[in-house]
Amino acid sequence: MSDPTLLAIDQGTTSSRAMIFSNQGNVLAAQQKELTLYYPHKGWVEQDPTELWQDTLWACKSVLQHSNNVASIGITNQRETTIIWDRATGEPIYNAIVWQDRRTADFCQQLKTAGHEAMISTRTGLLLDPYFSATKILWILDNIKGARQKAEAGELAFGTVDSWLLWNLTNGAVHATDATNAARTLLFNIVTQCWDDELLKLFDIPRSLLPQVNDNVSDFGYTSKSLFGKEIPIGAMVGDQQAALIGQACFNQGMVKATYGTGCFALINIGGQFRESKSGMLTTIAYRLNGETTYAIEGSIFSAGSAIQWLRDGLGLFANAAQSEALATSVPDNNGVYFVPAFSGLGAPHWNPHARATISGLTRESTAAHITRAALEAQAYQTLDLLAAMQADSQHNPEVIRADGGLMANEFVCQFVADMLEKPVEIPQHTETTAKGAAYLAGLHAGIYSGLNEISDAWHCHRRYEPSMNSSTRNALYDGWKEAIAPLLNSP
Ligand code: ADP
Repeated sequence: MSDPTLLAIDQGTTSSRAMIFSNQGNVLAAQQKELTLYYPHKGWVEQDPTELWQDTLWACKSVLQHSNNVASIGITNQRETTIIWDRATGEPIYNAIVWQDRRTADFCQQLKTAGHEAMISTRTGLLLDPYFSATKILWILDNIKGARQKAEAGELAFGTVDSWLLWNLTNGAVHATDATNAARTLLFNIVTQCWDDELLKLFDIPRSLLPQVNDNVSDFGYTSKSLFGKEIPIGAMVGDQQAALIGQACFNQGMVKATYGTGCFALINIGGQFRESKSGMLTTIAYRLNGETTYAIEGSIFSAGSAIQWLRDGLGLFANAAQSEALATSVPDNNGVYFVPAFSGLGAPHWNPHARATISGLTRESTAAHITRAALEAQAYQTLDLLAAMQADSQHNPEVIRADGGLMANEFVCQFVADMLEKPVEIPQHTETTAKGAAYLAGLHAGIYSGLNEISDAWHCHRRYEPSMNSSTRNALYDGWKEAIAPLLNSP
């Protein structure tokens, strides 16, 4: 018999992927399919749950041809995205409402005005925002004919994407989620680790809809024999950003990971004590293992790599994202040009949904190179804003930043982040940190890894960037950024 392998399912916003990892942590096979996003109205974002499942199934089947000895499956997924289905037929009653969807913004504002946010934050670590699942569930119950009656009668099931995939993988036998995904619903009390009756009452959501909440590593069930010809244990589930934290082996308090893709998500491990953010960040569950919860403080930058995409597609400054580096470094500095990429408003720690992107400081000397440089520099300024808030909340001063994501291919950005944060930036050997995190957890389930120490030992730095800018230059650059972003902080 060949060595045991692990199957990681990484169901993201834009694609559904499956990867086989060897017991040494190497990728043996990978397959993925792009997922369709639907925008039926302004601010609405939906996906077809059946397509999402079928694509995932196809990717799994295709990588399983390369391994007949999968010891355990780990699932990681886009978080908050909301699906409700009929327990009897397994059919979704509406499309998946994606995390980006803003249709419940007015309702969230009403609850905020009514003074409910403080109570919600102390229980969930979150803010009252359409981003999270609760108001999306409520929208489906209130807008799909017959949904509320069926929900009251216990005939419907709610799940984030992890639960939906698990339900289908087990052919309807298991309705469960994990603590990290539950923590993003606005219904789960992350202090008591229970679905919270008061929150269910506030959002008017019947408890019978909800999945059971397990540790990240647990016996989630077995794949139905009809799918892959045999039953394979499903041993781990975890939200995507938490999976990346695990893939980056940030297991000690004060360790930070930052993932730079379309947006940027940074998490700092704060250990076993819940702490509410006072700086516009979120508190969330980093992982729950053997019944023990580790918390993280999380901040998200809405536009990171998307600023580079816009320079490419909107302005046509270059043909592919990688060319941004040569263009930016063709000039010695930004020449006073700042680019605040608030295309979808400002996220943490500023939270102004009404802000819009600006390019400032333009003169007749400004060129495409300066604007591109400003967009790349903005990645670091935004991270510094986030890190300052994280440090204030967590009382930790991280030694290094472990970074990943598509943008980290750009060495100028890596160095500039190190210079602005005045901390080394480390890029790991294996960049597939999200899938890797799910595989590691599945490996814990299968006994391939004995514990988190072994996962830490398997993490290797591939590139390291030391801060090297003198502090007066750095401070002057950051002061310029603060001036550039100031008008956006309270813009209506
Ligand atoms: P996601 O997972 O959000 O789809 P990725 O991690 O694949 O994102 O990163 C893609 C993003 O990174 C894109 O927005 C792209 O513009 C940006 N990007 C990729 N390579 C580079 C590069 N060399 N320089 C600057 N930006 C880049």
